Amino acid sequence: MIAVDEAPYPLGMPEGDTIHRAAAALRRGLLGRELTRVELPRLRPPLPAIGASIQRIEARGKHLLIGSSDGLIVHTHLRMTGSWHLYRPGEPWRKSARAARVVLGVDTATAVCFSAPIVEVLDRRALRRHPTLRALGPDLCDPTADLDEATARLGRLIEGARTIGEALLDQRVACGVGNVYRCDVLFLHGLHPATPVRAVEVTTRRSLLATSAELLQANLDGEMRTTVPGSPAGTLWVHGRRGEPCRRCGTPIEIDRLGEHARYVYWCPVCQPGPTEASVRPPAPPAPGAGGGDA
Ligand SMILES: [Zn+2]
Repeated sequence: MIAVDEAPYPLGMPEGDTIHRAAAALRRGLLGRELTRVELPRLRPPLPAIGASIQRIEARGKHLLIGSSDGLIVHTHLRMTGSWHLYRPGEPWRKSARAARVVLGVDTATAVCFSAPIVEVLDRRALRRHPTLRALGPDLCDPTADLDEATARLGRLIEGARTIGEALLDQRVACGVGNVYRCDVLFLHGLHPATPVRAVEVTTRRSLLATSAELLQANLDGEMRTTVPGSPAGTLWVHGRRGEPCRRCGTPIEIDRLGEHARYVYWCPVCQPGPTEASVRPPAPPAPGAGGGDA
């Protein structure tokens, strides 16, 4: 069984790397094979047909798309609660069948999505017009992601006193970044999560996105997410380390809630001092070619 499991509270929702790993595992199990079992218990037809073959399995940020030869696409988003499991034929499921939201079987494997809050079947036209999917920024798990475009989106999406900690989680800026990466990337840049976006230089904004992309891509293969190079698997800079000593200065890591969804943020109060009046001054205009989009 391959589980692409939900993270326990308060670690939060699976990040882009989790979904890309899920897509890779599901491709190995399902791609090119004919469906022998299709169950989407809460949805009405049209549903992918028995006998249709699985043609495409794609992660877009934290969204997973499974396309079949009859032109339909199963779209799931796991949020905080969902998980995908891949079972061999006859292997017992590790969660209750009542929690299954999607069951897609082929002769050699059964893929089951448990407890996902977003499950829908789209045709190609609906996929192209999907408001959430269309609005997604560049996928930072993709090595060809356009960081200039993501930087420009970050500039465009500033609303009022929006903080950099909230902006990094906004999937319209760039998709894939979740709570672990946003906390650790801000630590690596010495930025307090509550720093207003307008106080962050454009070159630093681009660097935050570049570091996020680097860490997401470095974790596409590993079992345990790691952000500290050369450390044991699972080692993180600040995320999930409330009260533990900062790996750079030894100060206990702090935790608080930030933004409208009140997600937990972790930071080092010494390495990431709070935004001061001086740091909140408007940033200098961007250098030509620095990414722009700061209007
Ligand atoms: Zn520190």
